[in-house]
Amino acid sequence: MAHFNADPLVAQNRVTIFTCRFQRAYTQSNTMNKSTESHNQAWWEKPNRVLLVNLREGDEPKINAQALVDDMKNYDASAFCISGGGIVAFYQTQIPDHRLSNGLMGRDLLAEIIPLAHASGLKVLARIDPSCAPMALAEKNPEWFSRDEKGQFREVSEHYVTCPNAQYYHRRIVDIAIEMIQRYNADGIWNNQGKFAAWDTDTCFCKTCKDLFKFDTGLDLPLKEDWQSKPWRVYNQWRYEKIAVWVKTMHTAIHQAKADAVFIAATQLCESLETIQPGGWDIDYWVEHQDVLTFECQRRNTAPWWPGIQAKYLSSIAKGKPKWMTVSYFYPWWRLYAAPEEENRPWIAQQFANGVSSWLHINGASSEIFDRRGYAPMQEVFQRLGRWQDYFDQATSCSQVAIVYSRFSQDNYGQDKPYARYVDAVRGYYMALQEAHIPFDVLSDKFLHHETLKKYQVVVLPNTACLTQSALDALIDFTNQGGTLVATFESGMYDEMGEKRSRGGLADIFKVKKTKILTQLKSSYGHIQEPKHPIFLGIENTDLIPNDGSMVDIELTTPTPSPLTLIPPVTAHSGATISIPEYSGNFTPTTKPLFISQQYGLGQGLWFSNQMDMLFYHYGFPDLGKMLANAVAMGLGERRDLEVIASNFVDVTSMIQGQRRLVHLINLPVGKSLNTGWRHPGGNLIAQTNIVVRIKLAANQTLKEVRLASSESLLQVRHHQAWHEVVIPQLDDHEIVIFEFVKT
Ligand SMILES: [Zn+2]
Repeated sequence: MAHFNADPLVAQNRVTIFTCRFQRAYTQSNTMNKSTESHNQAWWEKPNRVLLVNLREGDEPKINAQALVDDMKNYDASAFCISGGGIVAFYQTQIPDHRLSNGLMGRDLLAEIIPLAHASGLKVLARIDPSCAPMALAEKNPEWFSRDEKGQFREVSEHYVTCPNAQYYHRRIVDIAIEMIQRYNADGIWNNQGKFAAWDTDTCFCKTCKDLFKFDTGLDLPLKEDWQSKPWRVYNQWRYEKIAVWVKTMHTAIHQAKADAVFIAATQLCESLETIQPGGWDIDYWVEHQDVLTFECQRRNTAPWWPGIQAKYLSSIAKGKPKWMTVSYFYPWWRLYAAPEEENRPWIAQQFANGVSSWLHINGASSEIFDRRGYAPMQEVFQRLGRWQDYFDQATSCSQVAIVYSRFSQDNYGQDKPYARYVDAVRGYYMALQEAHIPFDVLSDKFLHHETLKKYQVVVLPNTACLTQSALDALIDFTNQGGTLVATFESGMYDEMGEKRSRGGLADIFKVKKTKILTQLKSSYGHIQEPKHPIFLGIENTDLIPNDGSMVDIELTTPTPSPLTLIPPVTAHSGATISIPEYSGNFTPTTKPLFISQQYGLGQGLWFSNQMDMLFYHYGFPDLGKMLANAVAMGLGERRDLEVIASNFVDVTSMIQGQRRLVHLINLPVGKSLNTGWRHPGGNLIAQTNIVVRIKLAANQTLKEVRLASSESLLQVRHHQAWHEVVIPQLDDHEIVIFEFVKT
């Protein structure tokens, strides 16, 4: 088990021991040769390390401005965020009825902190929270507040929840933001909680919402969540669009007030849907109105690769914009208690390795009782990111594979079970490619077009049931032009609003005559018909793989034998917990395909008609993951340009940066198997040794040298056939393998 010392020199030396046999003199100046020029970049476009300092009312007396600024230096931070205004003001506001925080006692924190920070070269963002306001304001401005179905205000901690369609959001919060930017020279605004249904309240039934919804859609505001009813799905969509209107309002006003101030509203992807969805948070609609696209990544009752999927998604939608993501070292429900260092390190590494700057959230540090163990290791990690920032600047993914994430499918197909019906399929495919060390991007279903797709060899649709016609057209065109499209289960069978298409959207690619859905396939099997088929690579000496869930029963226009067919459930009797197929008498092979491959134009379509990805996520049967990865490898074929031989918990990303190829290796923590239904704490980072990384060069590339970022030591390169191969002696938590090409 690796033990991490907070002293960076000690950590560095340990790696050096293993790499010295390849090492030669390597001057610091080599690393200082910036591969990209950044003179014209705004501060937020450069690599950043940001700290989020959250204050509670009453924390103010503990704040010493100089000590705070000095502490930021311990993290090699470039910027930090401090509580500003909204619910209460942590500065001497001039806006009427903007209540001063009780602990302020005449002080003005923004006036004290911002000039000192600027003098130290640090940027400062002021935090706003528009989600609720003092109850007294409801007397003068009742229309500012959210209402329940009976018209009552919604009380939270002696405040009322505000409505994001009301003038409180669109005028007053704008005024507060501008005051902090103009009077205090804040470098930007960080928004917390700008959303519908804040603080777990329900649908807003205020007059503004009712009138606006009627005006926008012609419909009455639905009284309760009912995914079977179209008005509810329309309302769900409307919430996303209305929050986007507010984001645009804020962004425009802030830039008018100060051209180089940034506005950052953060949301999340695919986890915490109970917050994101009723809140109306979809970052896709904010892209044009955000200076830095930002996700929050604080909760930990998630898959360990949540930072990775969010970072990949941000990178694909950002269109050249910078990307940031929060990271906490605590568990949200015990926010004063530190998560294990071994879990936090790969959490941050996944962000950096996918081109995203980290914000460390040290919320709670001003509390009397606090777990301080997170500080030293996080300072070390942030200082390392500072040393490595040249390998971050302008580095972009060169993955050959993309997985599609579809918020339309999450909502309108997932309905009241978004995880079980949709998200788990994405998680399963993500895990399969991560374990197979095949780097990939994550694309939004809303930005699928020819230009987006043409850089990929393979595009994966993990049960991407709901797709717009234009997305389908782009995917069909991608396949026709030579790409490989991999789909599972009901991909393409619904429109974006969840209406079933009369004919599957991908039926032409897969040459489908008709389909029907088979359900309740527990204790069924897949029957391997062609053991030599590439889909079964690494799965030898078995006739079967396990199956469950549902499948699409496909009738093809031209019947073709499938390499994997269904053996229906083999249940001895109703309610049996274990069945003995040989004796139960209904072990009946069929010709129903669980996997088909079809040529289409210059490309091919591969379809798992069952829920292969979801089953892999639920059961973890290795064969299911291998088949999912093999389908992608079939699409890559000889064009595959990266292979890594390592344990399956080593995560790999592939980036290009000027004349460099950067292969990030991240050691994911190994969890404990707890039967809590909640999470597996990642308490163990097991150092990995002798990891093989091999790349193929593009036609215009000549390899100059290969080295490791942690020690800047050179690696010996072996060449065989088209591959250039190195061995990484040891991976602790995060390493970058730098393939440096000759400048042409
Ligand atoms: Zn409202």
